[in-house]
Amino acid sequence: MSSGKGRLLSFFGGLLLTEATITHNEALGPYRRLSLRGEGLQAKAFEPGDKLQLLLPGDDVRTYTPITWEKGETSLLVYLHGVTTPAPRWAQAAAPGDVLRFIGPQRSLSLPPGPVVIVGDETSIAVAAAFVHARPGQVKALLSVKDVQAARDAAAAVGLASPELFVREADASAHHQRLAEAATAAGAGAPGVSVGLCGGAALIQGVRAALREKGVSSVKVKAYWAPGKVGLD
Ligand SMILES: Cc1cc2nc3c(=O)[nH]c(=O)nc-3n(C[C@H](O)[C@H](O)[C@H](O)COP(=O)(O)OP(=O)(O)OC[C@H]3O[C@@H](n4cnc5c(N)ncnc54)[C@H](O)[C@@H]3O)c2cc1C
Repeated sequence: MSSGKGRLLSFFGGLLLTEATITHNEALGPYRRLSLRGEGLQAKAFEPGDKLQLLLPGDDVRTYTPITWEKGETSLLVYLHGVTTPAPRWAQAAAPGDVLRFIGPQRSLSLPPGPVVIVGDETSIAVAAAFVHARPGQVKALLSVKDVQAARDAAAAVGLASPELFVREADASAHHQRLAEAATAAGAGAPGVSVGLCGGAALIQGVRAALREKGVSSVKVKAYWAPGKVGLD
């Protein structure tokens, strides 16, 4: 079903929207890597952690993270958490030559220069990869995932070479503790190290609380999705 925001954008958005053409759509298990090219991209400034708001077919608006932004080209990694919602339907069907319109890049997970620890889930592989491209050797990514091998393959394909992957557990509280421990071992809480926490709202809440218990309170948080919410941003 189209959203009010999407209908407005579709109608009035000529000036706000940038246009790009899909050049590749690569299937990576439950992920799709989409490459885009467009002259309009060259004029836009980009920082790692930025987002794009995509106007999808049917005027649905969904948010994704550019991994790189160079010479009029970018790429996205879309996690197919299901097959019936607008974003996975679009990502599976997108074909070279299709035109995509979007707003952005806009600031989203802005982190000061220097080393970063990213804690997230399948939807955070792209943002972790964006920081790796911008700050090689300065990024540790800790990801809670359903399928470790699929996440490892998708991460490697977008330049995130060695994320620490944690299979989701039935005991969410123990899982969040484990991620918080791994985050502190990776440098969270140390001077000059920024922490970005993103992905599902429950993961963020749980890991944030567990980090607080460890005395780590300076954390940048961005919820990417929540059960029952649509097109969260
Ligand atoms: C700033 C920002 C950057 C993002 N970057 C990325 C990115 O680079 N890659 C990426 O894959 N995602 C990213 N996301 C998350 C993505 O926008 C959401 O998962 C979005 O809801 C997917 O749209 P949809 O049409 O599939 O589902 P919607 O129609 O928006 O949601 C329908 C239902 O699906 C469920 N749902 C949504 N997402 C998930 C999920 N990941 N896992 C399980 N259930 C889910 C919820 O119950 C929701 O109510 C980002 C989100 C934000 C806000």
